[in-house]
Amino acid sequence: MSGPAQHAELLQFPVENDQLVVGGVPLPLLAARVGRTPFYAYDRGAISARVAELRRLLPPSVQLHYALKANPMPAVVQHLAGLVDGLDVASGGELRLALDSGMAPDDISFAGPGKTDAELACAAAAGIIVNAESENELERLAAAGRALGVRPKVALRVNPDFELKSSGMRMGGGARPFGIDAERVPALLARLPALGLDWQGFHIFSGSQNLRAAALQEAHQQTLALALRLAGRAPGPLRLLNIGGGFGIPYFPGEQRLDVAAVGAALAALLPDVQRQLPQARIVIELGRYLVGEAGVYVARVVERKASRGETYLVTDGGLHHHLAASGNFGQVLRKNYPVVIGNRVRGDARETVSVVGPLCTPLDLLAERMELAQAGPGDLVAVLQSGAYGLSASPTAFLGHPAALEVLVGERERKEQP
Ligand SMILES: *Cc1c(COP(=O)(O)O)cnc(C)c1O
Repeated sequence: MSGPAQHAELLQFPVENDQLVVGGVPLPLLAARVGRTPFYAYDRGAISARVAELRRLLPPSVQLHYALKANPMPAVVQHLAGLVDGLDVASGGELRLALDSGMAPDDISFAGPGKTDAELACAAAAGIIVNAESENELERLAAAGRALGVRPKVALRVNPDFELKSSGMRMGGGARPFGIDAERVPALLARLPALGLDWQGFHIFSGSQNLRAAALQEAHQQTLALALRLAGRAPGPLRLLNIGGGFGIPYFPGEQRLDVAAVGAALAALLPDVQRQLPQARIVIELGRYLVGEAGVYVARVVERKASRGETYLVTDGGLHHHLAASGNFGQVLRKNYPVVIGNRVRGDARETVSVVGPLCTPLDLLAERMELAQAGPGDLVAVLQSGAYGLSASPTAFLGHPAALEVLVGERERKEQP
């Protein structure tokens, strides 16, 4: 069981008159402005602040990329494209979104196993960098380039010979569908010139949702050492070194925030040696969740309040079909509650322990299990916090045929400087 006392530190938004304020707008007014529930609201200022924090804490020579799969809402992508140095995509659809933003093709990379010939042709035509995940993909990319009369840009995604410890989702080390096993890379590097590919460098991504600075520091140290080792076998100078990301955010009571300052300081100590040996390399960190996860809230309205054998249920118009992760069914082993508040009565005069469920006919449709919340009933707004990443686009939206959730990006952009 988890209560708001422990969850309080996860409340990212101001509370005024006991109402949650997102992007400067109190939640009831925001709900009226959006026009209907359920919806996701993302706070433009919170996203900007997150990028600014990373710029402050990471070495200035490190380039920051946004991985679209965390939140591909076009307005969010557009906003981030103006703040970061590059975009990472994982499908042909995300590639089109990234190109729409106006980001230079050189600063867009495309990772993901199972890229189709059609996607590889799009990538080659657009002139973006393909992070190749297998030998066969390299052959297919080369064929796409020949057909188009272009020289595709490619980085090798390396499946490292180490694992990122304490990671929510491991994506490197051991046997993986992602990347080319490190021990096979030297032989492949020798073949690249004959394939007619424009080799840029390496992509080494070892995992996601990590809250431990020490684990990330160790991964960075091992990633850089591996890159140096492999670069020694390369046909030309290394121009791009994407060292992954994996910065996590806290979701559950007791989770400690990632100490980004410590990660940045350790990286700053490692980089001079790397930059001396690889003077032409751009060093890139790619982040999804860390940039947007805490800037988003999912809002559903209470439709029914019902009692059953001593338990109270708030039944809302939103649920797992919009927010699979909050229901506990997107990669969690033991279900835990996301931070949840009643958005129009955050503290409340009276509090009670309730479960918040969605409208779907399945016991999986659970947004909060036996949580202490302000007393609420029909018409009140349930707000699920930490919902800016892997929310709507990671949910089974067609399940049961309820209306789609809306998405809004809230808050004014900074004014242009007067000439
Ligand atoms: C998913 C993914 C990311 C983003 O991961 P986050 O945990 O959201 O930061 C970055 N790079 C690659 C290759 C990915 O697959």
